[in-house]
Amino acid sequence: MRMERDFSYVRDNYARIADAVAAAAVRCGRDPGEIALMAVTKTVAPEIVNCAIDCGIRLLGENRVQEYQSKREFYRPDAQVHFIGHLQTNKVKYLVGSVEMIHSVDRLSLAQEINRCAAKQNICQDVLLEVNIGGEESKSGVMPQELPELLEQAAALPNVHVCGLMTIPPPTQDTRCLEAMQKLFEDTKARNVQNTEMRILSMGMSGDFEAAIACGSTLVRIGSALFGARVYPTLR
Ligand SMILES: *Cc1c(COP(=O)(O)O)cnc(C)c1O
Repeated sequence: MRMERDFSYVRDNYARIADAVAAAAVRCGRDPGEIALMAVTKTVAPEIVNCAIDCGIRLLGENRVQEYQSKREFYRPDAQVHFIGHLQTNKVKYLVGSVEMIHSVDRLSLAQEINRCAAKQNICQDVLLEVNIGGEESKSGVMPQELPELLEQAAALPNVHVCGLMTIPPPTQDTRCLEAMQKLFEDTKARNVQNTEMRILSMGMSGDFEAAIACGSTLVRIGSALFGARVYPTLR
């Protein structure tokens, strides 16, 4: 019999994070049940991801198309996969209909390509619009002031369904970007754009998920706090 490697650290980490998510929700008077905990699986082997699923994780976040394709068949089927990484238009066809949701829609051409691929399959693809809330040059995401236009345009695409917003704020302990994102989410929700929903705010990672929950996040994306520091394969 093959020796199973010991991945019990995933169970310990999961228990600790799930408790911290619930406690953060309670501290700000929210129902812990409204906050989804996503396991971000980049660089993590499928057998370890399956440990997280065994612990109760029902949502996986992948951020590279090729890596997703090579790993998905090994994942236990009881978790949904969302795509959370920067997405090139020419790779859209590998994701539409395969992942439950795409978090990283930040330009019209991308939304149009998702629409085209979804129409071919006769489905409606759930997406989030990614906002560059820190206005950082190097980051993907639509600028906050351009969000209303992109939302209107995406709403008009029949095979794309906008379910909310996603953001990766600048890495700082300062909560101003989280607060700005909360306000943008609430303002966008209040605009009630037809054919869209504003039910998901995907915000918060290992370093800031508690602060993000205090600012209205409904989905936190946790990688390193769950699986440990990522080890990227070295290029030769
Ligand atoms: C890697 C990644 C995360 C998780 O980051 P951690 O700090 O390891 O929790 C979340 N969201 C996106 C888009 C990522 O690429």
